[in-house]
Amino acid sequence: MGKIRQLDESLANMIAAGEVVENMASVVKELLENALDAQAKNINIFVTQFGLKEIRVVDDGEGMDAEDLHLAFKRHATSKIRAHHDLHHIMTLGFRGEALPSIASVSTLSIESSTGEAAGRRLTLKNGSIIEDQPAPPRRGTIMTVKDLFYNTPARLKHLRSEQREFAAMVETVQQAALAHSDVRFNMHHNGQSVFHTSGRGDVLQVLHAIYDKKTAAQMRPFSSKNAYFSIEGYAGLPTLTRSTRKHITLVCNQRPIRNIVVSSTILEAYKSYLPIQKFPVVYLQIKADPLLIDVNIHPQKQEVKLSEVNSLKKLILETFAQLFKQEQLIADVRKTPEPRFVHPSMNFKTSEQEPYMHDTDEKVHELNQSTASTQVTEPHQEEPKTTSRQRLPDFEYVGQAIGTYLIFQNESGLHLIDQHAAAERIRYEQYRQAMRLPKPDIRMLLLPLPLSLSADERSALKGSAQSYLNQFGLTMVEASGQYALQEVPYWFPEGQEEHYADQVIRAVLKGLTPSKGALLDKLAIDLACKHSIKANQHLTRSEIDRLIDDLDQTDNPFTCPHGRPVIIRITTQELERFFKRVM
Ligand code: ZN
Ligand code: ZN
Repeated sequence: MGKIRQLDESLANMIAAGEVVENMASVVKELLENALDAQAKNINIFVTQFGLKEIRVVDDGEGMDAEDLHLAFKRHATSKIRAHHDLHHIMTLGFRGEALPSIASVSTLSIESSTGEAAGRRLTLKNGSIIEDQPAPPRRGTIMTVKDLFYNTPARLKHLRSEQREFAAMVETVQQAALAHSDVRFNMHHNGQSVFHTSGRGDVLQVLHAIYDKKTAAQMRPFSSKNAYFSIEGYAGLPTLTRSTRKHITLVCNQRPIRNIVVSSTILEAYKSYLPIQKFPVVYLQIKADPLLIDVNIHPQKQEVKLSEVNSLKKLILETFAQLFKQEQLIADVRKTPEPRFVHPSMNFKTSEQEPYMHDTDEKVHELNQSTASTQVTEPHQEEPKTTSRQRLPDFEYVGQAIGTYLIFQNESGLHLIDQHAAAERIRYEQYRQAMRLPKPDIRMLLLPLPLSLSADERSALKGSAQSYLNQFGLTMVEASGQYALQEVPYWFPEGQEEHYADQVIRAVLKGLTPSKGALLDKLAIDLACKHSIKANQHLTRSEIDRLIDDLDQTDNPFTCPHGRPVIIRITTQELERFFKRVM
């Protein structure tokens, strides 16, 4: 009895929305999913001429008998789905019965399969109809060969991106499948040369190593945690490991590579303030959840899935990553040679890993404009030199201040340079965030109410809900003859600049610009921290330096400023020796 059944027509239509075969990577994806669905343990992918000439996938899965083989080419046949209800319980991959007929309609497709118990069968299809039906050896598994893809759809062929990019997308598809199935051995060849292979021993780190390189894999940390709805596990790159695109965030849900905008932005949020702008992390995240929580998008080409209870997942991810980073010393090493990055010989990703860090232009302007700098309160430090070991920063001794900006420290591992502004900014930022987080903002009454200059529109908006919203920030206004004046401000507003900061908050709220109170506060905290911290080219006394380092060590993240730039970098002794050619 064959395994493949024919679906009832309405379900078939649900699934068949849209076209399956968009590009070569989507063909590879379909063939891989068929192989994985057949419980293959070894999958070989042979690609010739970037896939234009041939794509062949050889698996050692369950195979099909002659009856199933014929059914496989009937549109909307699938062994997996028997009723609408089952759609919600899809745990396996091969639920898109229309895939093979679709591929067969734009290529010459041959499929050879056997359950291993009896002689196999080989069917060849052209233009969607069978042109050959022959016996085949009783080799267990399936061999799918797709030749001359899109030969009969020149428009589609023309629409493809460059061969290199198409091929890169194919490699990426195989790599994602390999991450989701670390217990399956993958081997991909291009024009007879191996381009990617995994051991199939269930070791995700080994797959990451195969995708990237040893050094990258060494900077990835395992994590796993769960709550009532989800369990997550995977590997997170340390924030010192950065990429210039967000492509290196791989999401898998119940063993299916997926896309989910909420989950990927949550990951970016977890790295926020650890990474400079335009830098992205390397992450592999596997989600396990009851299939009932997963809304598999019926559109075959889209990997985007919807998740229920997604807020609980967000919380889980943020907490897990925060915990992970807390355990690490995230000091970026300065290297003579650029960081190796993932570039497959046949993939010419443009990267800009070496580009200089960009900082807020606002701050630059401000830093140049020394006259407006308010003085940082640094009380004389009366304590004895510290003997206690540090929490997060390494123990090191002070060497001196360089270029008026960088504090130099040393220990046996090498030289450490701390950007004094970035360090002070991190400390201040966390202090402001702390103050803002208080359930009831500490407020300060102004001696004289400050009149606010607001337009008629703004004034009428203030009459609405905006006023009570502003109260939550600790801002209170009084109204007299149609004019508003500021009466109370949060105590963390710098003295003498109440109007300026109140103005920023009020305008943001009135414009409805900010997505959330949290985001607005964060922006304010960064802004305040930047403007009220030690500047570059400011001389610091020794006790001010000790105090700065102690305070920095107490922060949640002493390694990057709130803009995500490094606070501290290290030049290792070995690297120095390499610079001076003492060692090679
Ligand atoms: Zn700054
Ligand atoms: Zn900064």
